[in-house]
Amino acid sequence: MAQDDARLVDGHGRQVRYLRISVTDRCNLCCRYCRDEQTPFIPHGDILRFEEIEEIIAVAVSMGVRKLRFTGGEPFARKGFQDFLRRVHLRFPEMGLRLTTNGTLIGGALEELRELGVSVNLSLDTLDRSRFASITGRDLLPTVLENMERMMAMGIPLKINVVAMRGVNDGELYGLASLCMDRNVDVRFIEFMPMGEGSIWSEDLFWPAAGILAEASRHWTLEPYRPRNFAGPLAEESGPAELWKLRDAQGRVSQGSFGLITSVTHGFCASCNRLRLTAEGSLRTCLYDDKEYPVRDLLRTRGPEAVRRAMLEAVAQKPVGSEILARSRGPVARKRMSAIGG
Ligand code: SAM
Repeated sequence: MAQDDARLVDGHGRQVRYLRISVTDRCNLCCRYCRDEQTPFIPHGDILRFEEIEEIIAVAVSMGVRKLRFTGGEPFARKGFQDFLRRVHLRFPEMGLRLTTNGTLIGGALEELRELGVSVNLSLDTLDRSRFASITGRDLLPTVLENMERMMAMGIPLKINVVAMRGVNDGELYGLASLCMDRNVDVRFIEFMPMGEGSIWSEDLFWPAAGILAEASRHWTLEPYRPRNFAGPLAEESGPAELWKLRDAQGRVSQGSFGLITSVTHGFCASCNRLRLTAEGSLRTCLYDDKEYPVRDLLRTRGPEAVRRAMLEAVAQKPVGSEILARSRGPVARKRMSAIGG
């Protein structure tokens, strides 16, 4: 490929190093904050084929991307995802692979995830079975907890992502954050983002980071924490989270970290190094910006060089999302999170 050393630097001097790939918009859960049952799915024929995703990854890697995350919809809801993951690992062995999952369909893949060294972000908003069913529309908490326990026992690197919602799971901070106390698991509370038309987001449901922090401080002493790889362009193990270790009244310090992702009250756009690829093959430079750059048909008709040029052009125009959020009244983007990948 020509000009392999062209780097993906945007107009604000930020270099894209991280590609988040939605392999499907379909999901077996229907989390109320993410999508609704009426959200139409993309027709199968319009979804990127796995081989095409591989080609787009190759272009991104040639321009400096060093981290890949697979998301959805639910990645494991797409047939063949596990085989695809193995192929990506074999073709890009230097790439750290990560995935974001609801943990319901992952059971049969755990051995392989461990072999491939995949890190897992598990979305889990509650430990209460009926609340889980009411948030997700499915009674599958026991399956998620079983898979979570297995991942911990197997030593698969694991983070728990909790969407913080006042009046929904604000009474569960202690139970959820306790998961990082004795086990080597990191727990992140994410501010609920007003994403997409039809979102149930409201001021009442919004539980800001300051409130989450105050609640955590009632139970533990919070000690600021910076993982060893915090500095530099790949400071992405912790992502944009603010992190702490928890110290309890007996002086025990948590093994895992406790984190807040303040996407709404305190954006982290200045250090954003992300580019997203949607399931139908469009580049999206910012969660909050609806402008997308379609590359599927470019790849099919004109090949990887055309994708490379489109990627450079897209990244050059990467906006500052917090400015878009500040300007918005109501939902900040047209698409729901399930169609973008989070
Ligand atoms: N199905 C997978 C899962 O459940 O993790 C991956 C896709 S899901 C869209 C990715 C992440 O986005 C999940 O952690 C989910 O909780 C989060 N998410 C969805 N809608 C959100 C919103 N409005 N605000 C904050 N996080 C959201």
